[in-house]
Amino acid sequence: MTQIVISDNMESEVVEELKTIGEVIYLPENLSEALKDADVLIVRSKTKVTKEVIEGAPTLKIIARAGVGLDNIDLKAAGEKGITVINTPGASANAVAELALGHIFSMFRNIAKAHYQMKNKIWDKKHLVGRELEGKTLGIIGYGRIGSLLGKKANSLGMKIIAYNPPPRHEDEIVEFIDDFDEFLKKADVITLHVPLIDSTKNIINSETISKMKDGVYILNTSRGGIIDEDALYEECKTGKIAAAALDVYAEEPYMGKLLELDNVFFTPHIGASTKEAQLRIGKELIEKIKELIK
Ligand code: NAD
Repeated sequence: MTQIVISDNMESEVVEELKTIGEVIYLPENLSEALKDADVLIVRSKTKVTKEVIEGAPTLKIIARAGVGLDNIDLKAAGEKGITVINTPGASANAVAELALGHIFSMFRNIAKAHYQMKNKIWDKKHLVGRELEGKTLGIIGYGRIGSLLGKKANSLGMKIIAYNPPPRHEDEIVEFIDDFDEFLKKADVITLHVPLIDSTKNIINSETISKMKDGVYILNTSRGGIIDEDALYEECKTGKIAAAALDVYAEEPYMGKLLELDNVFFTPHIGASTKEAQLRIGKELIEKIKELIK
């Protein structure tokens, strides 16, 4: 019987469905022990599937990442052992796009700030004058699955959509691509990141690129930590060059750094894909792929 180890949290419906295709060990206390006879390892982003983990799993045939990024898996070590690595790239796109939109609304209308003040018994209407999205320009860096979905949603709210994404890229009728990065940075009222963490995107938002943006720009990162230089973000949020920033992802997680001191930076703890719907879609897609591979 196929041995399946699930080492990160998963929806109970998904765990039950997996039990129909194999023997499941869910959240083992000792991962290396559980992997001794395992055929399939399922992880989200928490488990680090290192070379050592892979070498300690002699019968492993499939590593399944419930989500998009594969940066927590040593792909080279997996490849050398002939292990197939799969993920579920499309399943969480809508969840992330909706969270991004939520953060943009919250920054523009001070929703998180107002909530925090009222919880502290502060009624301060006059400092909570917001901005409206309609007519503003949303600048999307990385116009892939999530970026283009967010573009469509924001456009339906009356925002103009520009994007920076060198070809090959997804084209549609609502976006204007600006291939000169400096020109792109100059034009956006809100800049949102939807790129993978690779050499060309590491610290793509830094003091130099921030200096080219509009004064009072809004910045959002729901993609990966390390794409924004957090020190530069801290400095420019303090000076007011950046009106506000919102972050779901951090260079080091859990994030406990100095950005937490600032009143114009808003945080969520890497919950982009954390919706009931996305988790069920992810589980369904994984199960189908695993069944197919086992066959
Ligand atoms: P995708 O591959 O569909 O899109 C990424 C886009 O970035 C592509 O169009 C690609 O051409 C473009 N790109 C690559 N390098 C670039 C560069 N240097 N400059 C500009 N564009 C560049 O990916 P996706 O599914 O839309 O996911 C985007 C990001 O969101 C990934 O980093 C993923 O890990 C992250 N993500 C985060 C969460 C979360 O929980 N916060 C959940 C899911 C995905």
